[in-house]
Amino acid sequence: ATEDKSAINEALQRHFGHKSFKSELQQQAIKCAVKKKQDVYVSMPTGSGKSLCFQLPGLMCKDQLTVVFSPLLALIKDQIDHLAKLKVPADSLNSKMSSKERERVITDLRAIKTNIRFLYITPEQAATKFFQDLLHSLHKHKKLAYFAVDEAHCVSQWGHDFRPDYLKLGELRAKYPDVNSIEDDFQHLAAFAQHCLGDEEQFKALPKPKRGCGIIYCRTRDQVERVAVGVSKQGIAAIAYHAGLKTADRVEVQEAWMRGDKAIICATNSFGMGVDKPSVRFVIHWDVPQNVAAYYQESGRAGRDNLPSYCRLYYGREDVRSIRFLLQHDAQRARGRGDREMLTERALRQFERIVDFCEQTRCRHKLFADYFGDPAPDCRGQCDVCKRPKQATKALEMFQRLCMD
Ligand code: ADP
Ligand code: MG
Ligand code: ZN
Repeated sequence: ATEDKSAINEALQRHFGHKSFKSELQQQAIKCAVKKKQDVYVSMPTGSGKSLCFQLPGLMCKDQLTVVFSPLLALIKDQIDHLAKLKVPADSLNSKMSSKERERVITDLRAIKTNIRFLYITPEQAATKFFQDLLHSLHKHKKLAYFAVDEAHCVSQWGHDFRPDYLKLGELRAKYPDVNSIEDDFQHLAAFAQHCLGDEEQFKALPKPKRGCGIIYCRTRDQVERVAVGVSKQGIAAIAYHAGLKTADRVEVQEAWMRGDKAIICATNSFGMGVDKPSVRFVIHWDVPQNVAAYYQESGRAGRDNLPSYCRLYYGREDVRSIRFLLQHDAQRARGRGDREMLTERALRQFERIVDFCEQTRCRHKLFADYFGDPAPDCRGQCDVCKRPKQATKALEMFQRLCMD
C-alpha cells in the first residue's frame, strides 16, 4: 500500500504538478481506483477536483486509455484543452468533428501503440454500432484502463426529451466486467435511485379515474416509459408518448387516449399542443416543470369542461440541482452572444421562479396571479395551501429539513 501511495504521489506531481491532494476524499477515491478491485463512485461538490479521480488513475495505466463518458460537448472541450496544456493526449469522437479529425483519432486508436490516453465520448456516440465495435477491439487488445462517467447526474436527469442513450451506458458497462469504472457524482446517481423509490410512492398515490382521464408529464423519455409501465401495473390503462416515437405511432397513441381506450397518457412536454380534450380530470407533473408559464399551460389542460379536476406537482431537489446546473452552463456558454445570452438567462431566471413557487406556502392561485400580474382570484380553499394551511407548512418544513442532511 505504501508503494501505491508513493507511486500515486509521484504521478500527481509529474503529470499535474500538484504537491498534495485537495482533500482526503480525493486521495481515497484515487487510491481505491488504482487498486482496480472495485468500481468507484465519487461524490464531491463542484470544484473539488473530481476529474483528477479518473485522470490520475488513468495515467497510471501505462499504454492504456480511459474512455470518459461526458454529457456535453462544451465540457468535453474544456477537459481536452486542460489535458493538452498538461501535455496529455486526449481526444474525442463526436458528431461535431470533421471526417478528417475522426479519421485521425480512429487511426490512432487502431494503431499497435495508441497515443491517446483519454477518449471523451457522448452517450449518443457510445450507443452507436461503430463505437461498440471500436470498444470491443480496444478491449481485445487490452488497451482499456477504465471507464469514467463524468457529471453522471446530467446525463441521467436532464430532460424534455433528452439523452435517451444514457441508460445504454449501463449495458455497455456490463459487457466489460473486467474494466473498472469511476463515476463522478454518485450523489446524484443515488438520488436517481431514490427517485425510483419515490416513484413507488407516487404510483401508490395515483388517482384511479372512474370516468375521464389524465395526463402525467415527465421530463425524460425514459421516465415516460417507466411511469407508463408503473401505472399499468396499478391496473390503470396507460400509454407512453414522446418525440422519440415515429410520427404514426405518436398519432395513434394520442388517438387511443382521445378515444378513451387508455385513461392515462404519460408524456414529455412535447405533448399537448393543439390537444383539446374537455374531460381531463387530472394533470400530474412527475417532476419539476421548466417554468411557471409552462406549468400553468400544462396543468390548465385539466377541467376544460368545468367539472371538478385537479393538478399535482412532484418536486425534488435532485431534479432542481441538475436542471439548474445545465441552465447555468448554457447561460455561461452563451455569454456575449446577444439573443442567445438573453434567452438562456431568462430560462434560468424563470426556472428559479418555479422553484420558489414550489418552496413556499402561499395560495397557489395567488402565486399564479402574481406571476402573470393578474388580480388574485378567490381560491375558496381549492389549493393545498388554502385547504390545509398547517399541514402544508409542516410538509414543507419536513421536506426542507430532510434536504439539509
Ligand atoms: P469538479 O469536477 O469536482 O468540479 P475539477 O476536476 O474540474 O472539479 O477540478 C477543479 C480544479 O481543481 C481544477 O482547476 C483542478 O486543476 C484543480 N485540482 C484538482 N485536484 C487538485 C489538487 N490535488 N491540487 C490542486 N489543484 C487541484
Ligand atoms: Mg467535473
Ligand atoms: Zn389557495
